[in-house]
Amino acid sequence: MRQIAIYGKGGIGKSTTVQNLAAALAMKGRQLLLIGCDPKADCTRLILGGKAKNTVLDEMRGMQDPAKIKLKDILHEGIFGIQCVEAGGPEPGVGCAGRGIITAINLLEKMGAYHDKLDYVFYDVLGDVVCGGFAMPIREGKAKEIYIVASGEMMSLYAANNIAKGIEKFAVSGGVRVGGIICNSRNVDEEYELVDTFARELGTQMIAFIPRDNVVQYAEIDRQTVITFEPDSAQAENYRQLAEKVENNRNFTIPTPLENDRLEELFHSIIVKG
Ligand code: ATP
Ligand code: MG
Repeated sequence: MRQIAIYGKGGIGKSTTVQNLAAALAMKGRQLLLIGCDPKADCTRLILGGKAKNTVLDEMRGMQDPAKIKLKDILHEGIFGIQCVEAGGPEPGVGCAGRGIITAINLLEKMGAYHDKLDYVFYDVLGDVVCGGFAMPIREGKAKEIYIVASGEMMSLYAANNIAKGIEKFAVSGGVRVGGIICNSRNVDEEYELVDTFARELGTQMIAFIPRDNVVQYAEIDRQTVITFEPDSAQAENYRQLAEKVENNRNFTIPTPLENDRLEELFHSIIVKG
């Protein structure tokens, strides 16, 4: 079983990318568990055809004794048999969302959600926070494989670099490795070269370049992945190719984060002079 965590700047396209990737893998016959680690609980919406009704924390709030919670109450089956869980979160402004993730994962383990038949567990982790509970999937050695979603926008690569700094610590102590950067394009000038160069300097690879395409929005409005909404589109093929690359990936490394000056220089050398 491969346990994979997806990180990246807020709004960069993590949930969209991971759900399309999951759909493509499931279509190949793989068994998947997708765990949304975001209080918004929107990580599985495209797989379930709507937002999950019960998050783990919703369920726990209504229950005096967590031992009484049944797996079927929190585990929802989506397209191609993909198993989905949303950790959920506290009321906005109250409590620690990271702790919710810890609680949810522990509960899922106890209930046997991580069974032998699973090929993949994906963790879709909120925003670019690598501290505390949000680092839980990697900190506790659950997810050993990480992909960072980024674009050629400066702040997105800053966030990716910061995430790499966080990962570096866990990599040294806990065997966590980066499998690559997934470029989710924002149509920035010289984006391919920028993200590709950044990935190499980080000691990893740009595993895929996903173009920006309006079909993603149309599919999202219809509560679907692009894979199911328009299977013959070029974008669906891009997600299927991403799935192939993830499946066959053998390039796992400890990241070597860039100095901030070097990161800025990268933009100068590629964009300004390019
Ligand atoms: P958050 O950090 O809030 O969880 P996220 O990183 O999960 O955000 P998404 O919710 O997946 O980001 O995507 C943000 C928006 O960008 C969505 O409306 C989605 O439809 C759009 N989007 C993502 N990828 C693409 C793409 N390749 N082409 C066009 N639109 C995209
Ligand atoms: Mg998301």
